[in-house]
Amino acid sequence: MLEGKEREIKNEFLELLNQRTLVMDGAMGTMLQQYGLKAGECPEIWNITNPDIVKKIHASYLEAGADIILTNTFGANGLKLQKYGCRNRLPELNEQGVKLAREAIDDYKKDSAVSLFIAGSIGPTGEILEPCGPAKKEEVFVAYQEQAKALDSSGVDFILLETFYNLDEIKIALKAVKENSNLPVFASMSFDESLRTIYGITPETTVETLFQDGADGIGANCGSGPDALYKVVARMRAITNAPLLVKPNAGVPYLENNKVIYPATPQEMAEYTEKYIQIKINIIGGCCGTTPEHIKAMARKIKNANDGLV
Ligand SMILES: [Zn+2]
Repeated sequence: MLEGKEREIKNEFLELLNQRTLVMDGAMGTMLQQYGLKAGECPEIWNITNPDIVKKIHASYLEAGADIILTNTFGANGLKLQKYGCRNRLPELNEQGVKLAREAIDDYKKDSAVSLFIAGSIGPTGEILEPCGPAKKEEVFVAYQEQAKALDSSGVDFILLETFYNLDEIKIALKAVKENSNLPVFASMSFDESLRTIYGITPETTVETLFQDGADGIGANCGSGPDALYKVVARMRAITNAPLLVKPNAGVPYLENNKVIYPATPQEMAEYTEKYIQIKINIIGGCCGTTPEHIKAMARKIKNANDGLV
């Protein structure tokens, strides 16, 4: 049930969305790679092995102006952890992810009285769901149920389902969260240049289906750069006044000398941020390839708009 503190946060967070645009943080994976995360390594293990680095990344986004930071738990669902051979550590990895975000906020709040929030990140299992693939709906549900319980009991302010392509899978994740938590939940899918997910799902279907299934907000993240996602969220906004989130990559990545390059500059992301504000997107952040510099430039636009300066 909705306990006192949880109810307060639920109200505070959802109410704030009516009052101003909130800044979400940027990429965690990109930053972990900068600190030495290897390809094929489980990023969530760093919550245990390199807590200071994870906390430092959170702190750098708070300093850049983020109102919301995402836990380093994107892949901490049962099926993904199973692949890394550490499913038994699921509760610990999620709990520790929330703890590090909370500590970063507490440290930052020593000098500031602003409202800051933690979003519990839940990403896809990476498995292909039946009937197209081998993953059974029931096992996928259980994988999300475990993660939802762990994040809820660790004290996140809301849940963000992000980077989903398959509508059936995000529906299962949403159901698992709704049945195991009273926290607000945002559901975000990943769209490419065709303005559909790789499963062919449109922005309109995403909005209609996921609000009907009880999401408090809908979003578009990852996949493509700021321009494609602008077109996606504009189509979403055309059919709903409810809360929307956008979190684009820093452009469409390409390979150069075996390195993945994200081409969008902080300035370019800031220009798109103005466009998102104009169509009243409630939460704006960055996905793969974005850094504290990107979020700083974007946050400046958002703060100015919130202060009525533009
Ligand atoms: Zn991404």
